[in-house]
Amino acid sequence: MKIGTIHVIICGTILTAVFFAASCREEPRRYTRPLMGTIVNVTVAASDSDTALRAAEAAFSEIARLEEIMSPYRKGSDVWRVNRDAAALPVEVSADTFRVLMASAAMASESGGAFDVTFMPLGRIWNYESEPFTPPGPAAVARAKVLVNYKNLVLNPQNRSVRFLRPGMGIGLGAIAKGYAIGRAMAAIRALGIDDCIVEIGGDLQVSGTKQGRPWITGLRHPRHGGLLLSIAMEPGESVVTSGDYERFAIHRGKRYGHIIDPRTGYPTESFESVTVVSGDPMFADGAATAIFVLGPDEYRRFVDRHGDIGVILIDLKGNVMISKSLREKIVLFEKIPVRWI
Ligand code: AMP
Ligand code: MG
Repeated sequence: MKIGTIHVIICGTILTAVFFAASCREEPRRYTRPLMGTIVNVTVAASDSDTALRAAEAAFSEIARLEEIMSPYRKGSDVWRVNRDAAALPVEVSADTFRVLMASAAMASESGGAFDVTFMPLGRIWNYESEPFTPPGPAAVARAKVLVNYKNLVLNPQNRSVRFLRPGMGIGLGAIAKGYAIGRAMAAIRALGIDDCIVEIGGDLQVSGTKQGRPWITGLRHPRHGGLLLSIAMEPGESVVTSGDYERFAIHRGKRYGHIIDPRTGYPTESFESVTVVSGDPMFADGAATAIFVLGPDEYRRFVDRHGDIGVILIDLKGNVMISKSLREKIVLFEKIPVRWI
């Protein structure tokens, strides 16, 4: 479960409140629901509580619908059917799942396979839920690793079908589906004519509009001690997504094994404590945060340079903080820490 970001409510002074009186109308209301294995928060500024509730419900049902079709555990879901049948025959999936798979294929190729939704055979042997957790042996890792390769996932846009080129393959959309769901839930709210809102799934979020005329402010927690590290003033439409090694992990003989796997080695990635991506597209931000996490401090640079429009906040394993220069004006640091502006 992700606790990377929290909202910080910044109250304007009385003077500015008066000055902004024309745009300072609706106090945002916040609604919460457990979905997608985590907590979903929807914040809506609407003229009355009925409208706000209706908007939040629209967002929740959209997220629930997407969970229904993309969860690998739900019998009959798109992903469940793909994992059962796609080695034998092409499996047709919904437009939403196909869109996420196309975006995943692009992210896999751009990251040289660091991001790869066919990681599932490795995901199965690195089972963090097993008690006690024991890491798989090298032979099991080698056997699973050869089944992981996005190039062996054939996507046919003609009939939106999915096919595995090797038996034993499997997909999981955990690194990108939340970002997609955030974007769709946001669209569902905006379709009701509401401009000022936030959709947050497990700490990842997108904002729309403003908070009573001023930017929405998001806080980023420190990945180790959980205190507030910094805040970001969000532009309308921006999203912020974090991948971290603290979200889900297991410990064996004092060693921490994280939930993000490097498909190129077959082992959990040890690269950053956390990677945060700020971007206009929540699905892209979600995929990119995971990709950068796997690429690690030695390789991430090329990916980030290629996407000049994203901002990143990176914390390496020694606790060093690196932040994109493009975010400088939007960030307030709450801890006296040296930052390398990149
Ligand atoms: P995120 O929190 O968005 O970084 O997603 C992490 C989740 O993505 C994990 O819990 C796995 O379900 C899945 N995953 C792990 N490694 C990878 C990878 N290399 N590429 C794509 N998905 C992955
Ligand atoms: Mg991700």
